[in-house]
Amino acid sequence: MRLVILGGGESGVGTAILGKKKGYEVFVSDFGKIKGNYKEILLINGISWEEEKHTEELILNAAVVMKSPGIPDKSPIVKKLKERGIPVISEIEFAAPFTKATIIGITGSNGKTTTTMLTHHLLKSAGLNVGLGGNIGKSFAWQIADNKYDSYVLELSSFQLDGIIDFKPHIAIITNISPDHLDRYEYKYENYIDSKFRITMNQTEDDYLIYDADDEAICNWFKTHTTKAKLIPFSLTKIFSEGAYIKNNKMEIKISQEEFTMDTEHIALEGKHNMKNAMAATSVAKLMQIRKATIRESLSNFQGVEHRLEKVLKIQNVQYINDSKATNVNATFFALDSMNTPTVWIVGGVDKGNDYNELMSLVREKVKAIICLGVDNKKIIDVFGNVVDMMIEVDNMNDAVRMAQRLTEKGDSVLLSPACASFDLFENYEDRGNQFKQAVKNL
Ligand code: ADP
Repeated sequence: MRLVILGGGESGVGTAILGKKKGYEVFVSDFGKIKGNYKEILLINGISWEEEKHTEELILNAAVVMKSPGIPDKSPIVKKLKERGIPVISEIEFAAPFTKATIIGITGSNGKTTTTMLTHHLLKSAGLNVGLGGNIGKSFAWQIADNKYDSYVLELSSFQLDGIIDFKPHIAIITNISPDHLDRYEYKYENYIDSKFRITMNQTEDDYLIYDADDEAICNWFKTHTTKAKLIPFSLTKIFSEGAYIKNNKMEIKISQEEFTMDTEHIALEGKHNMKNAMAATSVAKLMQIRKATIRESLSNFQGVEHRLEKVLKIQNVQYINDSKATNVNATFFALDSMNTPTVWIVGGVDKGNDYNELMSLVREKVKAIICLGVDNKKIIDVFGNVVDMMIEVDNMNDAVRMAQRLTEKGDSVLLSPACASFDLFENYEDRGNQFKQAVKNL
């Protein structure tokens, strides 16, 4: 059987290794350049590959094609494959049949990485032999080839889910849904929502779907669709007989007649959004029958993930916070919401069709000055120009941080939460966050 892999990155090379091990004739084709270390690995494993082209004769004869999530369906080679009826699947679809491990799949517009890392931390602290994969770290397929784990916590983007046919996680989480990546979904929000819900489409009565019951798009979907999975909702405002919620500053989880309670002040993650992430992850831990004491300890010592509301330094009693991963309005909403001091807000970059008005009341309440850090800041200036006392445009991180320092007084915070992608001025959000941290350290 010929397995062709489009994209020679982490998921492509991982799939190649697993495919080779399972007896496929494997070929990797990348329209860009393949990184040196991956080339070496392909070579060592006797896997043939090409780069900076897609040679049709070597691709259109595939029995099955694994496409990396970054390659859009509308790319010419994918179109041709589909016209010929050749299945084009994602890494998780290819890899999952080769393992008996329990799979926990986590999707959503925001909070995937945080929830995935926290879930993994909870299970690992309990001594489970658990792997971490999907969009994070080492390829899932690669780990299966190495036959490493009894269970996996996978971060799943909608692109990964678009390429599934039979894949099903035993436990699925949808953290929330807000408009994102609509360019890949014909600019139709419903297509993007449907894509997220593919995570549950093959689940059975023995499986679980954990979801945000405060989320409008999710609740609307349930009005017209169903799933066979057992439902475990979580909410900041509602209370359930089966599910997770907050009551009197306590997180409560009720699943299968069992209860778990913990004071929210003992949970290390901060902010309402993180209470949601914690409820979702803890629900998984309960379903996996992790001991309460272990859950408590893990929730109290999990410090969060870099670039997500990350506390950098306190200088002259001003707290600097790096939320560079906030690349859309919804993420920034929760960042501003979690601030409880006057805030100098650094915002801007490449906007994917933002509606900043959603932030208006939070900005009025919490923001004393705005620093626009982008090539084109017009929209931000138009919306907030009359709302804050001070608005400044800068074009590099050092200036942004120095200006921020000048505008603060004791007890304030400086928050980098851009609500935008980073590639106008930075390589990626990590680069943006790292430059912020360095600039703060240089103050
Ligand atoms: P993802 O992997 O889905 O992008 P991350 O955990 O990396 O999610 O967080 C991305 C951004 O969204 C960060 O700015 C973070 O502070 C914010 N965020 C995290 N969890 C949530 C949530 N449940 N709802 C809204 N925003 C969130």
